[in-house]
Amino acid sequence: MHLLPRSRSTFLITIDTVLEPFMSRFCLTLALILTVHLGTSSFVMAADEATSTRILFLTQSQGFVHGSVKRDPEQAGKLAPAEVAMIQLGQQSGLFTCDCTQDAAADFTKDNLQNYDIVAFYTTGELPIADADRDYFVDEWLKEKGHGWIGFHSAADTYRTDNPEHSWYWDICGGTFIGHPWGSGSNVTLAVHDPDHPLAKPFGTEFKIQDEIYMYSHFKPENVRVLMSIDYAGSPTGGTVNAEFGFHVPVAWVRSWGEGKIYFNNLGHREETWTNPAFLESIATSVKWIRGDIEGSTEPNPVVSAKWEAKSRKDARKHDFKVEND
Ligand SMILES: [Zn+2]
Repeated sequence: MHLLPRSRSTFLITIDTVLEPFMSRFCLTLALILTVHLGTSSFVMAADEATSTRILFLTQSQGFVHGSVKRDPEQAGKLAPAEVAMIQLGQQSGLFTCDCTQDAAADFTKDNLQNYDIVAFYTTGELPIADADRDYFVDEWLKEKGHGWIGFHSAADTYRTDNPEHSWYWDICGGTFIGHPWGSGSNVTLAVHDPDHPLAKPFGTEFKIQDEIYMYSHFKPENVRVLMSIDYAGSPTGGTVNAEFGFHVPVAWVRSWGEGKIYFNNLGHREETWTNPAFLESIATSVKWIRGDIEGSTEPNPVVSAKWEAKSRKDARKHDFKVEND
């Protein structure tokens, strides 16, 4: 099931299709007149759509299904909590419109990407994206100025395989889930490394929240600007830290992709997180940042990751965390 816009361009394509058998210079003129007329009659809506950023929100779960993206099969058309939150955020901020889909095969296509500026993922597993559509997205669409990709939570539990053909996704997302020592009931403290960065600013200098926090493989500090990390000292857990890929637990980061932008944020497992003002403000701000209204560095900060690797290792010992693969 998916929900897509009833766009003006789709309607005009329909008119062209109907006229095609009779297409002549006269009919072409008629089509243009109709276009102008329709454009005028729906002027208010068109103006709003023209100034809004358009987001395609993919919430397809090919693995674990989070409550935040679970639609009620008994209530057709009723969207999931994260989907509702995104649509409302767009309406309340006036910044964007958001179309939600759980059908990547149908909607994550070269043709449909033309209708959007930003693609957001809250997904799991191996998505049914055609190779040609993937290549277009990675090599062209995402590299365009004003385009961006936002990953929420289990976007990092997507393409979690050993297949090197999925490395395109590991690079875009920036990390791949290996476990969550901090389960969904955990009260965690996040250190904000770059509190003046517009996407980090809503979280202050230190951010406390109850949510599930992942650890990652494929995280490359030299490629990303880390905005927040878990502070072991303020994040107790009975879970086991898998130190196979290090102790540092980045929670949010940004990077550039050509002239496009990427923002990943681990938060969002819990439905309550989708009502958290700081989280929502950061998302709204990321839309302004992706479309170029505001500046926000994507310069990689591997020194921060190195510093937090050392601190996290020390704090894991000091606070008696259970550790494996050190
Ligand atoms: Zn989760």
